[in-house]
Amino acid sequence: MSRIQRVAVIGAGPSGLYAADELAQASNVCVDVLERLPSPYGLVRYGVAPDHLKTKSAVNALKRVLERPNVRFLGNVHIGRDLTVDDLDRFYDAVVVANGASTDRRLEICGEDLHGSYSATEFVSWYSGHPESEIGRFTLDATSAAVIGHGNVAVDVTRILAKTPGDLRHTDMPSHVLDVLDQSSIEDIHLVGRRGPVHARFTTKELAELGDLANADVIVHGEDLELDEANEEAINRNRNLRRNYDFLHACAARVPQGRPRRIHIRFFRAPTEIVGTSVVEGVKFERTELDDTGQVLASGETEALSAQLVLRSVGYRGVPISGIPFDPARGVIPNRAGRILNHGAVLDGKYVTGWIKRGPSGVIGTNKADAVETVEKVIEDLPTLAPAPDPDPDGVTSTLLDRGVSVVTWSGWQQIDAGEIALGESVGRTRTKIHRTADMLELSGSAVVGEGK
Ligand code: NAP
Repeated sequence: MSRIQRVAVIGAGPSGLYAADELAQASNVCVDVLERLPSPYGLVRYGVAPDHLKTKSAVNALKRVLERPNVRFLGNVHIGRDLTVDDLDRFYDAVVVANGASTDRRLEICGEDLHGSYSATEFVSWYSGHPESEIGRFTLDATSAAVIGHGNVAVDVTRILAKTPGDLRHTDMPSHVLDVLDQSSIEDIHLVGRRGPVHARFTTKELAELGDLANADVIVHGEDLELDEANEEAINRNRNLRRNYDFLHACAARVPQGRPRRIHIRFFRAPTEIVGTSVVEGVKFERTELDDTGQVLASGETEALSAQLVLRSVGYRGVPISGIPFDPARGVIPNRAGRILNHGAVLDGKYVTGWIKRGPSGVIGTNKADAVETVEKVIEDLPTLAPAPDPDPDGVTSTLLDRGVSVVTWSGWQQIDAGEIALGESVGRTRTKIHRTADMLELSGSAVVGEGK
């Protein structure tokens, strides 16, 4: 019988777990999923909006991966801090990097770091109860907020700002987040994109949800919706664009109902400066025109918007792992169909999948096909790779224990999971997220790494 081959997957988000699932179906392969946080599920837990319960239910399928007998979850393990890539080479035959895109792209304009200007990623992490987000990070005492960018994340943060806490009690948001949303002074939310309705990246389902909010009017200016012949054709060729456009058109024709909050969707405005002395007071925009290929051209005409909160929602960005090649210009790991490249040459036994492979695009399911492509390469290469010098599964866990790492095993995570359900039920909710790492570790009984699978 051929020996068991051991593969490490870095990251327990959807891309890592889809890869683990594919790997676990191969004979004689055991997979360790190493996750920086005490909890699995990555962006499904900390990125998908809490009120998108159907999308969140992807957790059920991901959970089944971690229940496989040949897949082991090792949470609260930070690669680069607790284990190096050299350590991984000692314990595993192959490594699949699936650490996503955990930081944000920057606008590179003046005022970006003023108090009151945040990346949408920070806001999403805060309302999702991410353990690395400070509890008091947001106060929402602004009356006017500017959300910059026209992707689905921008729509998510706009919707959360516009909803009432009553609309959000059925979610797993931590109580301190609901308390801040309850006190929110927000009246106007400006959702501003640098291109037109034909080029906005949001999808109709997400956009149209804004129109269903009982608490907010959606205001669109007809002048932003004027189409030339080429754009008219583009809209007629693409169902998502047509539906977006029809929704926006209907909003432009509607008389505001005097609801407590207003969402202003504006197009053709590129931010040039976030204004303020120590805190944000507004945003300067330059009106834009587009060339024939949809590229943004500055018109020279500027305007200012008053806002005390700015959320920059211009895309996520991958972060490097020490010892793994990284392309800083694109924020991804250079690869050929999942095999990691070092200066153009294949790096033996190192693979990549998900957003850190292709950039931050697509829906959760997109990561499935991506993982299949990568794992095909792993399975193809495994027979020819140098075997791990220390393949004993206890080698990695005892090394972590020696280094004082509180590893969260699968059974430890189940304790945290049960703790969140119990906490939710104690206040009449289905689940309430536990925010602090220390509280999660305590619930997990995590010092005992040998327990569970
Ligand atoms: P995104 O879809 O890439 O949108 C980024 C937005 O930022 C675009 O409107 C882009 O405009 C704008 N932008 C970039 N640089 C800018 C600049 N310098 N100045 C002004 N605007 C700038 O990114 P995302 O919203 O973060 O979403 C990431 C992925 O997650 C997407 O695939 C998204 O669909 C997915 N997602 C899905 C859901 C869902 O299905 N419900 C929810 C959240 C996220 P240009 O087009 O002009 O570059």
